[in-house]
Order: sequence, then C-alpha cells, then structure tokens
Amino acid sequence: MAVRTNSSVQNALWLLNPSFRSRGSHFNAHLRLGQKPSRGALFCTCTSKINTRPNDEAPKPFVITTPLYYVNAPPHMGSAYTTIAADAIARFQRLSGKKVILITGTDEHGEKIATAAMAQGSTPREHCDVVSLAYKMLWEDLDIAYDKFIRTTDCKHEAIVKEFYSRVLANGDIYRADYEGLYCVNCEEYKVDEKELLDNNCCPTHLKPCVSRKEDNYFFALSKYQKSLEETLIQNPDFVQPSFRFNEVQSWIKSGLKDFSISRASVDWGIPIPNDKTQTIYVWFDALLGYISALSDDREQHDLLSAVSSGWPAQLHLIGKDILRFHAVYWPAMLMSAGLSLPKMVFGHGFLTKDGMKMGKSLGNTLEPNDLVKKFGTDAVRYFFLREVEFGNDGDYSEERFVNIVNAHLANTIGNLLNRTLGLLKKNCQSTLVVDSIIAAEGNAFKDNVERLVEKARIHYEKLSLSSACEAVLEIGNAGNSYMDERAPWSLFKQGGAASEAAAKDLVIILEAMRIIAIALSPITPSLSWRIYAQLGYSRDQFEAATWGETKWGGLKGGQVMAQPKPVFARIENQTEEGAEGTAVQKTVKAKRKMTQPQGLAQA
Ligand SMILES: [Zn+2]
Repeated sequence: MAVRTNSSVQNALWLLNPSFRSRGSHFNAHLRLGQKPSRGALFCTCTSKINTRPNDEAPKPFVITTPLYYVNAPPHMGSAYTTIAADAIARFQRLSGKKVILITGTDEHGEKIATAAMAQGSTPREHCDVVSLAYKMLWEDLDIAYDKFIRTTDCKHEAIVKEFYSRVLANGDIYRADYEGLYCVNCEEYKVDEKELLDNNCCPTHLKPCVSRKEDNYFFALSKYQKSLEETLIQNPDFVQPSFRFNEVQSWIKSGLKDFSISRASVDWGIPIPNDKTQTIYVWFDALLGYISALSDDREQHDLLSAVSSGWPAQLHLIGKDILRFHAVYWPAMLMSAGLSLPKMVFGHGFLTKDGMKMGKSLGNTLEPNDLVKKFGTDAVRYFFLREVEFGNDGDYSEERFVNIVNAHLANTIGNLLNRTLGLLKKNCQSTLVVDSIIAAEGNAFKDNVERLVEKARIHYEKLSLSSACEAVLEIGNAGNSYMDERAPWSLFKQGGAASEAAAKDLVIILEAMRIIAIALSPITPSLSWRIYAQLGYSRDQFEAATWGETKWGGLKGGQVMAQPKPVFARIENQTEEGAEGTAVQKTVKAKRKMTQPQGLAQA
C-alpha cells in the first residue's frame, strides 16, 4: 500500500521486457545468511516454511513487516529501501537468537489495477501475477530473506478480511452513508482534509484537480476511537518512531478524527463486502489485514484467530512516512474495534532524493533498484542506503557519493585489510594461525577497543540506528588498519626471531577483528560477510550457524588454516562518457568491477 499515493500507470513495455522475464537463473545465485525464501515460494504464496503454532511456553516470534506494495507499477527504490532495512533488522534479530517472521507482500486490488490490466489486454489477475513476481525477483536479487510473502489476492487473505470486517461490524463500528467529496482519481481517495489541497482543488501529489464525487459507502467509525488512541499514545511513547513522527501523529489525533469510507461501489476488482455484493472493500480494510493473514498457516480453513495465534501482534511495522496516518491512526483503531492487540511499534522512515532532487517519472530521474544491483552488486546497494541515510530521515543518492563510500568502506577499509593480512600470513605462516586469538591478544588494548565497538554496534542495531551500527563496525576496520600500519608486521617478519613471532600474533589479531566485522556487518551485507568468513577458513554451515554471541573475541584458534587470499569486494571503477545521439543530455556511466591489487603483498 506504500505506493498508492504515488501513482503511475503501469508501463506495458515494461511487462514485455524480455530481460525482466528471463531472470530465473538469478534466483539461486545469491548466498545469504539465515533463512531464504524457498524457490517454491516464488510461485505459490500458499507454501510456508514456518510451522508455528506457539503455545504458551514457546517464545513469541519477532514479527516485522514491510508495507504490502501496490502493484500499479514495478518496484521502485523507495520500496527496495524499506525492504532492505526490514531485512537488516530481521537478520540482526535472528543473529541475536530470536525467531523472526519477516512479512512482505503485494497489495493487488483497486480500480487502477483493473484499468492498467485492461489497457494491456490482460486480466487483473495476470497483471498482478507479473508485478508480484517482479517484487519477488528483486527481493531475491537484494538478498531479502523474507519468511512470508502475502498477496491480497490470496484466498486465505480474503477469508481473514471478511472475518475481520464482520467483527468490526458486530461491534457496531461500520455504517452505511452517502458520501460526497473531492476525489483524486490517481490517489484513489477522497480528500477528507480539503485544507491539504492546492489551488483549484488540485491534489498535492498529482497536481491535478480533484473531482466531485458522490456515492453511498460503508464507513468505519474512527471518531469513536479518538480517546482510546490518545491514551494509547500516552501509555506507549515508543508506539510511533522516530519521535518527531510521534508528535505528528499526536497532533493529527488531537485535531479531531473523522470516520472514513471503507468500500467502493464502482470497483469490481476487490473483496466483496460480506452481505452486499454491490460494494468491494477499499484499501485499508483490505491491505492492512495482510499483516495478519500472512501469519496464517496453510490449511484448508483460514481463520482470524489462528492467524493471530501464530505471532500477532507484530513487533514492528516499517513504513515510509507517506502512509504513517493509516498505520498509526486507522490501523490501531481498526484493531481495537476487532478486539485484537496493537503492534508494538510503527517506524516511519524518510524519502530518498537523487542528486538533491525529488525523484519522479516526469522528471526522468528515477533510480531503478534493478539497475543499481546489476551495476554495483547487492552488498554495495544495501550498504550505501543503510549507511548513508540516517534511518528515519530523508536521504540522498548520488552516484559519485555511492561509489566513493562503497569503495572507501567496503573495498579499502575492510576488503583490502583482509586481503593484505592473508597475503602476509600465506607468505610467512603457510596461511596457518600460530596461536589462539585469545592468547595473541592478551593484554592488548586493540582487543578491548574492538569489543567496545562491536557492543556499540549492537546497541545501535537494537535502536534501529542502522547507519550508526555500520559506522561502529567500520571503526573496527579503521582501527585494524591503524594497528597494521603501526605494527608493520611485514618488517617484523624480516627481523626474524621474537619480532617474527610477534608479527605472526599481529596477523591473528587482525584476522580475529575481521571475523568479528563479518558477523557484525552480516545484517547489512550478508554476501560480503560470507565471503570474509570463507576466507577465514569457515564452511557455509558454520557461517549460517553464527550468532551475535560470536562477536566476542576469541573465535579464531591456533592451527586454523585460512583460504587462499582472494579479494572479497570488487572496487567500483567509473568511466563517464557522454550519451550519444543528441537525445536528452544524459550521462551514461559504465562501471567495471575490478579487484584491487592487494597492497600488503607488495610491502611484504
Ligand atoms: Zn492524488
């Protein structure tokens, strides 16, 4: 539902693009830490790996959700950003020993979907299948280890929506009334607050005049929940994060809540209102329920309470700030009406700009997540957005900044340090550690510093300060580089004797720091972390079994044999050239991935 306010008509060419359809071979190309969606799940959302029927003794799972993305357009960078962040948080929680259920999916009903499908000569269902698959493929390419992918056209979803609706109706919170108001066709919504409109009643998002529409609809009595919502916020100051968004929500509620329409009379592509086939359920009473229906196990009968018993309430709804009102005001009121628990937290992140400008199709400056991944690789894309954007605030992408950050941090600070250390170890110690890392670091302040920094990273992850978590891990890399330069083990080896022994210990110390970096950064860059782990002589199984507890100093043991040194992160090399053919003045940048020459070897 994140993109319902950001409409663009589905591009038929995109649907026919062969490069889009022929990417099946990429499905299994990525390595990841933790659970990965099964191949089957890419085609059938009715399969579920998670077989949770928690009883009272079982620990409650950590349920985290992304919005269900509207299938009116292919996935864009905004959806990718939310999902990358959700995946990083989910991976951190899994590392910390929690059972995690990461829910994502697609919101597939509505007038716009039916219209877009018709324009392409396909059925709404076919259209939804194609776009929904595009999301799954992108998540695969971005190493998103989701546990549940819910589509609002799934049969289990419809059953749960109807049951939820009936509960709210039985509670006396749904009524029928005529509604007349200004309607934005592109937003697919009535503009309840006319103060938000521009001159000539133009929609602030679409800059087109809203039309006057009248229809009889079913309404949800949001106004009845004014007091309860006010109290909820007072009792749960963490309910909405970051705190400045909490204040925003509080002021919306204080300014007075209006009932909202939850059905449409003229839209066939939707879930029919129980007992009234002439109307279908409108977005919020449909899509928001996906957070619960996703939890439903596979069986013939799907019911609300068994879905709820599989993990509701969610710990965290991660959303873009544009849909904050629906998640922090409408949704909790709906849940209260149905007698269900509220989610623990709604976190509204900011928007992305490109080169300091708002992105948009009309401006021709959109950022395509597929292109970025193809050009720079998954780890680079994940790292850049999570490191560069302070989570919660708006953030900016520029290619120059992207290349600089990724090269400096991942290729140089981390990749090159590992590579030169392994080069020295190969040359002087037959790639074998001479002593346990715990003995090598006895009385060494460097070890204390690493332990302090990794604890700092953990605290930042817990607080969802993902950028600061990255920074703390990178500081370990910086400290490792300084240590290496101060100790200069390559010259100690030349001296032989005790100096040579000390140098061999120094290499163990650096490699132990690299091991800790690999685990601590694995929520952000899972593939890179695995490559580091493999260089340190671990198996894939050992990597996947790693926990946050193993960021404690002392993992590497004497006698452990390292792999042949091989760069773990390819430096991005840029060549800028002018676009041909006098079309729009556009620069195309070709990026080559080139492995850095290990500097340590030259010095060794
Ligand atoms: Zn609009």
